[in-house]
Amino acid sequence: MPTLSETDPQIADLIEQEEARQAEKIRLIASENYVSHAVREATGSVLTNKYSEGYPRKRYYEGQQIIDQVEELAIARAKALFGADHANVQPYSGSPANLAVYLAFAKPGEPIMGMGLPHGGHLTHGHGVSITGTFWKSVQYSVRRDTHLIDYDEVRSLAREHRPRIIWAGATAYPRIIDFAAFAEIAREVGAVFCADIAHIAGLIAGGAHPSPIPHADVVTTTTHKTLRGPRGGMILCREAHAKAIDRAVFPGLQGGPHDHTTAAIAVALAEAARPEFKVYAQQIVKNARALAEALVAKGYRLVSGGTDNHLLLVDLTQQGVPGRAASQALDRAGIVCNCNSVPYDPRKPFDPSGIRLGTPAVTSRGLTEPHMAKIADWIDRVIRAPADAEVGSRVLSEVRELTRSFPAPGLPS
Ligand SMILES: *Cc1c(COP(=O)(O)O)cnc(C)c1O
Repeated sequence: MPTLSETDPQIADLIEQEEARQAEKIRLIASENYVSHAVREATGSVLTNKYSEGYPRKRYYEGQQIIDQVEELAIARAKALFGADHANVQPYSGSPANLAVYLAFAKPGEPIMGMGLPHGGHLTHGHGVSITGTFWKSVQYSVRRDTHLIDYDEVRSLAREHRPRIIWAGATAYPRIIDFAAFAEIAREVGAVFCADIAHIAGLIAGGAHPSPIPHADVVTTTTHKTLRGPRGGMILCREAHAKAIDRAVFPGLQGGPHDHTTAAIAVALAEAARPEFKVYAQQIVKNARALAEALVAKGYRLVSGGTDNHLLLVDLTQQGVPGRAASQALDRAGIVCNCNSVPYDPRKPFDPSGIRLGTPAVTSRGLTEPHMAKIADWIDRVIRAPADAEVGSRVLSEVRELTRSFPAPGLPS
């Protein structure tokens, strides 16, 4: 970055340090990934200079000859990839996409329903400290204590009791397949709008590695930067009947001008996700998660729900007697980056919970496969057995570096 180094050496240096960190470490944060160089080029393009409030062919400013084509391409690719009637590619990120759904379908104070954050749901599904839990009357469902699976009986009885305007399905920390058809049936019964938030699993769905909610949901929201491997952004897909309400909610309801450079990069990511290699990638994410889960179980670790069907696993470290925060910090020192995470019915506080969350999207992007997952499980185990042992940490770190050197991360300068 010769120009940036000249203009702002401090920021240039920090970016270079972050590049090195992403290259050297094994990144297991389930929501993170490596975008392609093509996506980064579009993100860094001159499209950031344009204002284009409105929608293609219906803009408030002139000079949209090119931008309209960019957004139309992104929309067409989103609709084709997911098989949706309608796509809005303007939400600034996943949270604003979700807020648009509230604005479209529920008045402040009306009931809405989502999965509780301590059970794997997202802040924006009605959590108490989120606007979605204060401006609307939030009802939260859980997972079962015995199976850690969504309690569909509870979902149904809560829905009958509270008659929510919106029912959310989707999670940030749920390792199993979500039964979208079951949610749709419950929503239909109580007259709710069913919204599937596929922020984490959009790439798996695009690649055929997770069932799609499109046939069942009224509305589908997603981020574009998790398993979908695009720039940071959001999208809303919906049935034609809801298209107007969604578009109006995003603009002018909630946002001003769309981030056109992001729209272009989303279009690039969607084209990449439509290629046959992406199917292989999505399947490999799941295979890797399963391999990591099996290797950890073989070493005596307890996994929430006993395993995984998707890209992530939650490890309950209660038996090991290591708090989640101490574990994630020790792993980071050893070159393995994850986050501590609450487990269902966690007796510990959210800031220092009982578990860690591990995801395979980023390591799969750099080409790691099942045998590497066994190795990673081994490193995790060595660190968790001796979280305070600096020598164990530095030995694992040097082995991690040796592996990551042989598998350069996509999109990074080599
Ligand atoms: C990540 C996530 C979001 C929010 O996305 P941001 O881009 O961080 O605002 C929304 N819903 C779910 C389920 C998520 O995992």
